[in-house]
Amino acid sequence: MRGPKLQYRYDHYTWPEIKELVPRQPVCIIPIGSVEDHGYHLPLDVDNFLIESVCEDVARRIPDEVLLLPLIPYGFEDHHMSFPGTITIRAEHLEAFVLDITLSLAHHGFRKILIADGHGSNMPIVDLVARKTIIQSDALCACFIWPSLIAGLIKETRESEFPGGISHACELETSVYLYLNENAVQMDKAVKEIDFPKSKYYWHDLAAGPPVRMVEWWTRISKSGVIGDATIATKEKGKLWYDATINNLIEFVREFRAFEVREKVDLH
Ligand SMILES: [Zn+2]
Repeated sequence: MRGPKLQYRYDHYTWPEIKELVPRQPVCIIPIGSVEDHGYHLPLDVDNFLIESVCEDVARRIPDEVLLLPLIPYGFEDHHMSFPGTITIRAEHLEAFVLDITLSLAHHGFRKILIADGHGSNMPIVDLVARKTIIQSDALCACFIWPSLIAGLIKETRESEFPGGISHACELETSVYLYLNENAVQMDKAVKEIDFPKSKYYWHDLAAGPPVRMVEWWTRISKSGVIGDATIATKEKGKLWYDATINNLIEFVREFRAFEVREKVDLH
């Protein structure tokens, strides 16, 4: 490792030390992101940078209660491959890969596993992984995409239109990136682009998903890569949303750690 041993980093321990941590049952957090287009104004690392920052800041605040696994830096991106630079992992590979990680943790005795997602299209896959982990082990496994943790706050404080203003490389992601590292954001190139078909039942919005879901080839609904309004992003909104994400995730980690792993009952 570079630098000091970090108390919250899973892979900074030796194997005898990890074994000693099992009885304490920290929540094992696995961050997963992506390398993909995020408009003309943001680098390819948005999903990785934001979810890793969230997880690290949570782990720094409550190092006795969590173990942070290394970031999984690639996601399921087939529908983004028209944009230069995007790296995709096919869905069945990603599912098997993440499941191997969660089942390894369960094999070593960890019973609370949390997959922290920064990229929307990983969600159906990590949801399935969480379900399969529960079925195939004695652990509880849950997953989330970080904006869901602050959906109520986003609804109250967003300035962009609903639905559509907050979806991808949008008011939300741009604001949080500005707060964490404004030097990497080229705000002069930020655009507003909301151009998916209008429907009462189908839309794109990270703060509140639609009743009917469909994920299109990205270039059919976005020329820039943006879905949403990046032009009204600010550092101040970024700080508000980021801090709330940290606080809410700490709250959930504590609840999750206290969940009882109940006995399975076979009623045959
Ligand atoms: Zn993103």
